[in-house]
Amino acid sequence: MAEQTKYVLDESELPTRWYNVIPDLPEPPPPPLHPGTREPVGPDDLAPLFPQALIAQEVTTDRYVDIPEEVREVYRLWRPSPLFRARRLEKVLGTPARIYYKYEGVSPVGSHKPNTAVPQAFYNAAEGVKRLTTETGAGQWGSALAFACAQYGLQCEVWQVRASYDQKPYRKLMMETFGATVHPSPSELTESGRAILKQHPDSTGSLGIAISEAVEQAAQAPDTRYALGSVLNHVLLHQTVIGEEALKQFELAGDTPDLLVGCTGGGSNFGGLAFPFLREKLAGRMDPVIRAVEPAACPSLTRGKYAYDFGDTAGLTPLLKMHTLGHDFIPDPIHAGGLRYHGMSPLISHIHELGLIEALAIGQQECFAAGVQFARSEGIIPAPEPTHALAACIQEALRCKETGEEKVILTALCGHAHLDLPAYGAYLAGTMVDDELSDATLEESLATLP
Ligand SMILES: *Cc1c(COP(=O)(O)O)cnc(C)c1O
Repeated sequence: MAEQTKYVLDESELPTRWYNVIPDLPEPPPPPLHPGTREPVGPDDLAPLFPQALIAQEVTTDRYVDIPEEVREVYRLWRPSPLFRARRLEKVLGTPARIYYKYEGVSPVGSHKPNTAVPQAFYNAAEGVKRLTTETGAGQWGSALAFACAQYGLQCEVWQVRASYDQKPYRKLMMETFGATVHPSPSELTESGRAILKQHPDSTGSLGIAISEAVEQAAQAPDTRYALGSVLNHVLLHQTVIGEEALKQFELAGDTPDLLVGCTGGGSNFGGLAFPFLREKLAGRMDPVIRAVEPAACPSLTRGKYAYDFGDTAGLTPLLKMHTLGHDFIPDPIHAGGLRYHGMSPLISHIHELGLIEALAIGQQECFAAGVQFARSEGIIPAPEPTHALAACIQEALRCKETGEEKVILTALCGHAHLDLPAYGAYLAGTMVDDELSDATLEESLATLP
């Protein structure tokens, strides 16, 4: 009999609830603080930005939250997503390790981001909101939110980091096709944008600046709210459909993971895969090592400081206790645009502080080498972000080759690279560089912590 490589769930096995890891942790994460009073933020502080349902999910201590049927209907366009065993990659590496990947590139925009974009748009529409604003880097999040807004009849306005807006026209066209309006950031449309342009007329932007612009717009218009694609508790909550499905698929495979590996930008695909497995680990039902991988050029977990910082450049957001490189930090323009955020999710940061997960950083050349090796063996070209996780999987698989250990590795292949091929072009042409982030640069940036 042919060896099985693909584990699929029936539509009827689509999860009915999201999993909240907080009540299972030995202690809860520190709360967000109001930037003015430095007191914990209350629901009223967040009401100009988010609908009540999402504010409630942000602070809930319930272990499970039901997924509305209207959201599950849209999820069914691509969920449950497949789990693959990477048998061809294992063979190429000559490793006794068994490598599995949960593939989120099957979504309408090619990444895991719609898992949260859809419920965020749904709850806003249900509460009568007319327009959502957001930021986007390379455009993965912006296109996910544009798709989700189209599903529920919401307007969508996106501030896209100028460098990507100019260099990557296809994501912008995708957002516009879904009906969204896209502005390059910094823009002249907001006070935050104008302030940056006055100082740096040629600014190529950053996620932190784009967040300031989108938040400022939402706070000023009563029928408008803001949506964030990562970092916050409710975003990670929505992403747990990834791990819940993967648990069922591992039952089908008759296997148990010894190691989970995920790439971390703001932490949402990693948390989405890892939290249901962390629940099993904390309950003593399995004992996987859980490992986060970040780019060497933007190493918040491995070299950042665990401190309260702003989520944006202008200082409009609540203060979040997280591993941060400083809210002014502008990382090198590496190709993994989704991993270029100065902070890490407070929940992932807290879990790292508790010693429940490990972290490492890898330079982009090693990551793209892994991406090419994966593409040539498995036939899927990974987005630049998950090549970080794949590089760490390959490191581990090669260690297993040395020791003969039959380790079971699971990773989230959180997106494909069909709109990021110029990054592969740079790698293949040999023009990709790994710039070292110096201690001096990092210290300078950390000096701005509030
Ligand atoms: C946005 C994005 C990321 C980074 O965000 P997380 O919240 O850390 O998951 C990683 N991979 C892809 C494909 C993305 O689009």
